[in-house]
Amino acid sequence: MFDWLVVGAGFAGAVLAERLASVRGERVLVIDRRDHIAGNAYDEHDEAGVLMHRYGPHIFHTNSEAVFAHLSNFTKWRAYEHRVLGKVQDGKLVPIPINRTTVNRLYDLALTSEAEVEAFFDARAEKVAEVRTSEDVVVGRVGRELYETFFRGYTRKQWGLDPSELDKSVTSRVPTRADNDDRYFTDSFQFMPADGYTAMFSKMLDHPNITVMTGTEYAAVKDKFPHRRLIWTGPVDEFFDFRFGKLPYRSLRFEHQTLDQEWFQPAGTVNYPGEEVPYTRISEYKYLTGQVHPKTTITTEFPAAEGDPYYPIPRPENAALYKRYEALADATPNTWFVGRLATYRYYNMDQVVGQALATFRRIEAEVPQSAANDGPLLAAGD
Ligand code: FAD
Ligand code: UDP
Repeated sequence: MFDWLVVGAGFAGAVLAERLASVRGERVLVIDRRDHIAGNAYDEHDEAGVLMHRYGPHIFHTNSEAVFAHLSNFTKWRAYEHRVLGKVQDGKLVPIPINRTTVNRLYDLALTSEAEVEAFFDARAEKVAEVRTSEDVVVGRVGRELYETFFRGYTRKQWGLDPSELDKSVTSRVPTRADNDDRYFTDSFQFMPADGYTAMFSKMLDHPNITVMTGTEYAAVKDKFPHRRLIWTGPVDEFFDFRFGKLPYRSLRFEHQTLDQEWFQPAGTVNYPGEEVPYTRISEYKYLTGQVHPKTTITTEFPAAEGDPYYPIPRPENAALYKRYEALADATPNTWFVGRLATYRYYNMDQVVGQALATFRRIEAEVPQSAANDGPLLAAGD
């Protein structure tokens, strides 16, 4: 008998399981259909001994002191600021986000002030009355040529959609800068867990009140292990047996390679915005982890329609379909939906941690703590 069944051992599930077990002293069963904890943030040493991320590069960054402080209970950190280069026409490698260096290198210029770079952008920007789509965001700021160089092809590959068909929130993730700052993120906390994500999750889940079962489907345990309440962090449409149809999620195929050389490329990630190659980016883990090793491991990302659901696809019709599932979720008793797939939000890791901590505060306010002799609230068939 468990007080809580937590479906998914990623950030959403693990953060909540730990809070429920250690603050409320409740008994928690955490399951994951994958054969490991940590969800998409899972990292492991490959055969050569290089620490790599099975589901693509995960770089931790946040402006939330509370989120950073919370995770700091389970890991030490290594300072790391991610840098990305874009491989464009003629094989030129230039900083992305677009900054002063990008403009100077692409156009053989020698702009030295932010004002000059802003004037360069302004001369090209096509002002749009209402910035609605991911095309509007970029074309409205830097014009069509830079948009086509860096955003159109990459986005069409990544999403299988033209930027004009995606919410503005997607390309808005990547700013445009007039200075020389070549960091991918500008958050106040930019760190990698010193021993990796999986080690951090192990510590989080290492509690006498928590039982972890990997390689375990929800369907296989829901009736077998009586539980009073449920945390669901899988896809929300799956929970409701796709009652209103499938919610679209975008997938990726990862190609991992270990190379018998110390380094492969000049930055943690190189983006390939052109449509002449089917992949979007290549990442080299040793930049992220700081590991010293004679070999190096890289991951190439090939976007795909089919496969594990990695990205909710932000566009109005999907938001409308999600709203219908959200109404069902809100009306489901003793069940909380948390995380990127369960709330259909294009969230980074820190946002998922923040959402999980907020959910915990809601539970604390609304749900009396379980007593040892409480019976199950969620029985077979619920
Ligand atoms: P997940 O990590 O997906 O965990 C959900 C878990 O539930 C999964 O392990 C799944 O197996 C399990 N599950 C689902 N259904 C069932 C079921 N029926 N039964 C049992 N188990 C089930 N964020 C950043 O902040 N920085 C980055 O650099 C970054 N890079 C990323 C790169 C890629 C390629 C991707 C795809 C994402 C990236 N993210 C990054 C986002 C990050 O992965 C997510 O924000 C975070 O992992 C979401 O955590 P979660 O717990 O919501 O979901
Ligand atoms: N993007 C792009 N070109 C780039 C980098 C990003 O077109 O060189 C667009 C693309 O649509 C991408 C989105 O901006 O999906 C967000 O980029 P981010 O790097 O945040 O994507 P993630 O790391 O979440 O895959």
